[in-house]
Amino acid sequence: MAKQSDQKHDDVLAGLKLGSTIAARQLKYSLILATILGFVIVGVRGFQDYEWLEDVYHQGTQRSTSSSVAVATQILTNRDLELAEVMARGMMNNRSIARVALLNAEDGIFFELKRPAGEVPTSRWAEKMFGGLQTIVVPVRDPNKQPATTIGEMVVDLNPQVFVSAYMSRLSWSFLSTMVLAVLMAAVFAGMSYFVFSRPLVRLGNYLVKSDPTDDKRPLEMPPHHRYDDEVQLLGSVTVGLFGMIRGQVGQLRKARDELQNANINLEARVEQRTKELNEAMKKLEVLASTDPLTELPNRRAYLGRQEEAISIWCRRDTPVSIILLDIDRFKSFNDTYGHQAGDAVLVELAKTMQRTLRMIDVPARLGGEEFAVLLPGEELEGAMKLAERLRVAFEETRVEFGGNTLSFTSSFGVSGLPSKFGMTGFSDDVVRQFDALKNREISEISTTLYSMADSALYLAKESGRNRCELADFHELREHANAVSSDVLADD
Ligand code: GH3
Ligand code: MG
Ligand code: MG
Repeated sequence: MAKQSDQKHDDVLAGLKLGSTIAARQLKYSLILATILGFVIVGVRGFQDYEWLEDVYHQGTQRSTSSSVAVATQILTNRDLELAEVMARGMMNNRSIARVALLNAEDGIFFELKRPAGEVPTSRWAEKMFGGLQTIVVPVRDPNKQPATTIGEMVVDLNPQVFVSAYMSRLSWSFLSTMVLAVLMAAVFAGMSYFVFSRPLVRLGNYLVKSDPTDDKRPLEMPPHHRYDDEVQLLGSVTVGLFGMIRGQVGQLRKARDELQNANINLEARVEQRTKELNEAMKKLEVLASTDPLTELPNRRAYLGRQEEAISIWCRRDTPVSIILLDIDRFKSFNDTYGHQAGDAVLVELAKTMQRTLRMIDVPARLGGEEFAVLLPGEELEGAMKLAERLRVAFEETRVEFGGNTLSFTSSFGVSGLPSKFGMTGFSDDVVRQFDALKNREISEISTTLYSMADSALYLAKESGRNRCELADFHELREHANAVSSDVLADD
């Protein structure tokens, strides 16, 4: 698997086009340079060769011609055709001489020898190079006559074709060899640059692509082996150094990240724990704030809240609500007789008796001291009176065992309430109007009025001899309500 992925990495650089390698560029520029150099060399050598060959050509023809002038004199003087033949053939051994003719001063051509056509195929170049096709006329004088007189002429036709061919052949061979040498050298340079630059760099590139300095599970790989202590090796060493640094930095970053993550997780867990604790504490606090610790009944605050809720339902839906206030009779002297703890035991027992006697929806509460209340949502006054009476009897019958004594107690009850339209049938029109007027007041005002009415009834029960239940006198509703609102005004 690892090998395959390595192969893949290798392929990334193997995909490098040959034409875009340094070696290829080197080859291209070397070829251009070698070609230019080749042309220069060929040009210079060509020029030198030309000058040299031209020299040789002219010297050769001059020598042939001048050496024959003496023989020509003899021929023309003696009219010796045989000698003329020998001389002409001898001259024409020089392949640049195309024709030799001897002319008599009196009767023109005496002898003529031409090279057969096609023996030396003449190119166009022969007309241009080495002076082209020339004809040399050499006067022939008789040295025996004084003063010397011209007896004829020797005419020689020159054709430099042999030298042209030799020159062309030299030039092309020289061009060919220079070019071959240039191309060979370019190839050698390109090959060298491939082995010196391209290959080591591609290897280093593959190594760079393959290596992952951030992967700390594998040991840091060394760069590919390089034989020479040169720039490529320096680059490899620098890269390994850099990789090492990167690995170190990445390691530190990872560590920091892990620490941060752990800290975050811890923080989250702690915040969650604290939130849970806080919620529990708040619940406890809420219970504490709304519960009486001795009897575990709702306290005054909780009770009044529930009472206001019930009153608002009465206002909106005409659902009746009644309340019972109760106060233990002569509890001070009870405490005095049996002790405060016995009194507490009575308070606890009273709460239990209440809970046993009441319905689920009723709300018993300890308002403070030995004063209790019961909220009866949905209950008309008649039912509330019956329940108060039932409670009174239940208390009367309750026995509390404490400190070896069997204790008993009684309570007085004051009942008040906000009846429904149906529950008001027994009341006078005036009272009904007063209830209606009450609905327009603030809930808190209605609540205080309701409590005040029950308190008056309780006071009446105490006054009338205790251990009894009294219903509030609703004819006094207006007075109570007004007293409450004047209190509110006074408070304001
Ligand atoms: P009354 O019949 O007129 O109500 O007479 P009372 O003695 O009950 O009335 P008073 O208001 O004069 O006395 C109330 C007493 O209740 C005073 C106090 O000793 C007692 N008391 C109040 N709270 C507690 C309590 O939490 N525990 C105990 N043991 N006694 C309490
Ligand atoms: Mg009291
Ligand atoms: Mg009392």
